[in-house]
Amino acid sequence: MTKVAENRRGSSFLAEVIENTPGGERIVHCLQCGSCGGSCPNGADMQHTPRAVIAMINANKRQEVLSTNTPWCCVSCYFCTSRCPQEIPITDIMYCLKRLSIREGLAQNTDATALAKTFTDLLDKYGRSFELGIATRYLLFKKPFSLLRMGPMGMGMMTRGRMAMFPTRIKNIEQLQAIIQKARQLGERTS
Ligand code: SF4
Ligand code: SF4
Repeated sequence: MTKVAENRRGSSFLAEVIENTPGGERIVHCLQCGSCGGSCPNGADMQHTPRAVIAMINANKRQEVLSTNTPWCCVSCYFCTSRCPQEIPITDIMYCLKRLSIREGLAQNTDATALAKTFTDLLDKYGRSFELGIATRYLLFKKPFSLLRMGPMGMGMMTRGRMAMFPTRIKNIEQLQAIIQKARQLGERTS
């Protein structure tokens, strides 16, 4: 960790983000140039731009940052990260903020969190994504009317072989489940 990062850390929200993000110590070098926000395809939907979120983390505004919809609008395209002149891992910081906001019960966009849970449940069970399962489970519980509207499109994709009708398990799924289990234990230990 750099000297600037060491001096700024202390026991703070900034320290928490640094602790939970690979390469997160670079956050203290933000120039507030705005290249991240300017690169973001979803910036218009965000309550705070990535630039503003970085500033708020540096200012230790924990509650505000963990309550904003910004991480939930992030689609992990990595545009911001690749364009940041200070090599700040902005996308990974967004992942960190998602984890922390769920843990604190502050995650704002319940649709995004429900979708994420559906996705990880399927990974636990099958070791890979299953689009039909994600779409039906998510839409059934969250947007049942959309399910009716999107049904014909899903049928078309299945008949053209673009989407599987049934999930298939990866080989040796026990190995993946053991890795996931270990990662969860490590996560609980550091939280
Ligand atoms: S692009 Fe990098 S340096 Fe510029 S505002 Fe965003 S995080 Fe800060
Ligand atoms: S990774 Fe997320 S925050 Fe960065 S540009 Fe893409 S959508 Fe925006």
